Amino acid sequence: MSGNQSGDVLVLGAGVVGLGIAFTLARAGHPVTVVDPAPASGATHAAAGMIAPVAELAHQEEALLPLTLDSARRYRGFVDDVAAVSGRDAGYATTPTLVCGFDAADRDALAALYRVQLRLGLDVEQLTTREARRREPLLGPHLTAAYLLPHDHQVDPRVLSRALLAALEALGVRVIAQRAEALLSTPAGSGTSGSSGGRVAGARLADGSTVEADETIVATGVAADLPGLPAPLPLRPVHGDVLRLRPPAGFPALTHTVRAIVRGVPVYVVPRFDGTLVLGATAREDGGSGLQAGGVHTLLRDGITLLPALAEATITDAVARARPGTPDNMPLLGRMRDADGAAVAGLVLATGFFRHGVLLTPLAGAAVRGLLVGDPLPVAEPCDPDRFALIPRATAP
Ligand SMILES: Cc1cc2nc3c(=O)[nH]c(=O)nc-3n(C[C@H](O)[C@H](O)[C@H](O)COP(=O)(O)OP(=O)(O)OC[C@H]3O[C@@H](n4cnc5c(N)ncnc54)[C@H](O)[C@@H]3O)c2cc1C
Repeated sequence: MSGNQSGDVLVLGAGVVGLGIAFTLARAGHPVTVVDPAPASGATHAAAGMIAPVAELAHQEEALLPLTLDSARRYRGFVDDVAAVSGRDAGYATTPTLVCGFDAADRDALAALYRVQLRLGLDVEQLTTREARRREPLLGPHLTAAYLLPHDHQVDPRVLSRALLAALEALGVRVIAQRAEALLSTPAGSGTSGSSGGRVAGARLADGSTVEADETIVATGVAADLPGLPAPLPLRPVHGDVLRLRPPAGFPALTHTVRAIVRGVPVYVVPRFDGTLVLGATAREDGGSGLQAGGVHTLLRDGITLLPALAEATITDAVARARPGTPDNMPLLGRMRDADGAAVAGLVLATGFFRHGVLLTPLAGAAVRGLLVGDPLPVAEPCDPDRFALIPRATAP
């Protein structure tokens, strides 16, 4: 493709976050263009899609809770909108969640987390192991603890992404199958800037063409550190191996997402509408981007301890992808500032969603929409991309 295309909003990256933002903006009437060489092929392709603010609460991560609760509350409305515009199911299910432990240390760890969840007023109920097994007869022996999280739900990210792409098509959004190489910058003092510094005016694509835009949203996941940003991003890849399995005929259906700590290692099984199961996920910072044998071994070992009948299932899919991690595990969502501390006009960053990008997608859409109309979402304030005092790049490329 050559020549220039123009659009008021340009979304770089069509993972679940970029797609969700593009949908929210297009539905609100913004002319939107999306650029991605392979939509929904990044972390979105691997994700289990747990909409699990309570189960995902981790020690030291309480600042995330207002965001995850806010986004979980938005989910039903969001997927209903996507379904209405696309004419397709968006893959959302109100499957409740069971959380189990397998030895004394797992029990103690879950009990400590339960106390935090209760203190924060979250919706969690302690069960006897007998009650847990009554709810899910396939659970293995030797359970030491069980909790019910009735409002931790799920969405199938692959189904949601397909519905979002169909919704974008219905809304007339152009999706360009290209890689963005760099942001287009207008230098400070050129007279076109809305701030004291330069402004971002779109992107240059891999084939040399450019797309100009009033606002450019960088939502390229772990690859978000594009040339043209005012500072390097503190992103790190946290790789996850995940399996999809098809149980044999006659296998009783799971009616809960089952999460567990099995001898200190977290594991989960998410049941899909079509009877398949998602078994995940490792969290590796070893730099290895391919599916790791040891990771698959651990998943199968702990998954089969959790649900012994899984041993009879057929593996239908095995992938590894990188979660975009940040130093505090909070997203980088908002406007960036230049070396003088002025917001760079025309640029919004939407990355760093780490373990929660699917869950946080409705919030990301609402937050970016708020920024564009000058009405920022207060709950998103802690996601300010400049909170780490990043060192500005020496010169704007
Ligand atoms: C194993 C695993 C399980 C997970 N489970 C859950 C879960 O249960 N719940 C949850 O909420 N989250 C989960 N996550 C996290 C979630 O997947 C991520 O937070 C989320 O996918 C981030 O979305 P994203 O759109 O920012 O990035 P991605 O999904 O990685 O998408 C980035 C997109 O940008 C495109 N791109 C990259 N570079 C460029 C470029 N230069 N130009 C244009 N496009 C580009 C890529 O092609 C890709 O499509 C999981 C992740 C993994 C790995």
